[in-house]
Amino acid sequence: MPFGVGQTALLIHTIRELQVNAISATPSYMLPLSEAVLAQGLNPRDLGLRKGLFGTEPGMSEPSVRARMEETWGIRAMDANFGMADILSIMGSECDYRQGLHFHAQGAVAVELIEPETGTPLTLTEGAEGELVYTHLLKEAQPLVRYRARDVVRILGTGPCECGRTSFRFRILGRSDDMLQVRGVNVFPTAVGNTLAHLSNQLSGEFQIIVDHPPPHQYLRVRVELAQNLVPTHVGDLPQQIIQALREQLSFRAEPELVPYGTLPRTEQKARRVIKTYEQAGS
Ligand SMILES: [Zn+2]
Repeated sequence: MPFGVGQTALLIHTIRELQVNAISATPSYMLPLSEAVLAQGLNPRDLGLRKGLFGTEPGMSEPSVRARMEETWGIRAMDANFGMADILSIMGSECDYRQGLHFHAQGAVAVELIEPETGTPLTLTEGAEGELVYTHLLKEAQPLVRYRARDVVRILGTGPCECGRTSFRFRILGRSDDMLQVRGVNVFPTAVGNTLAHLSNQLSGEFQIIVDHPPPHQYLRVRVELAQNLVPTHVGDLPQQIIQALREQLSFRAEPELVPYGTLPRTEQKARRVIKTYEQAGS
């Protein structure tokens, strides 16, 4: 049953009326959806969903993000659909063993791994990190050759998986055009989100990285939204915890700015995490 954006109330109604038990969405849509459910005086678990098939954004690759989602909704959350309209809608998904995304477009799409900045080819072996490049093998109308979709990945394995599949397995690290460099360290907004998710009892999960000048960057301003009923002046050493977690896990210096719950925009599509204020001002 396809649902478009802006139909959240109808979606909740439909799930309940027809006893729908599985949902396929972006991970970030589940936050506005849970808020809409709570606003109706219901608990997300009351909807009766059992399975969530997520994709488009890399959130599911982080265990804490996934655990939180499963706890909130009472679902088994699967990283189910990596792909893009330009190439192939679903090229990767995980199996029950959750050993990363299996690439399963062999024969239809050829993939290469390159170094994002120089384009240098990399060997696709366990532990390698780089950008995936795609070439259509079967498409007859307007096939794409060595198409860059800016997905930076880590190869998790190339041998057989416990499920029996033999395709290589990978994890999305982020998009190369979202990547920020802070004193020579590559920082992906997705990784920032994953780190913040560990502090989940005090944070809503929403955040933005505010970039007010072109690179080079010595530090990043991170606007972080608090969980419901918390105010920025009464959260103890939370800013210090955020600074420490980002420094220890992602090796960059953050300057956090805490904002009350509901401040940052909710989206039903991909959340926009990097706000380049200098580009808006100049255009
Ligand atoms: Zn498997």
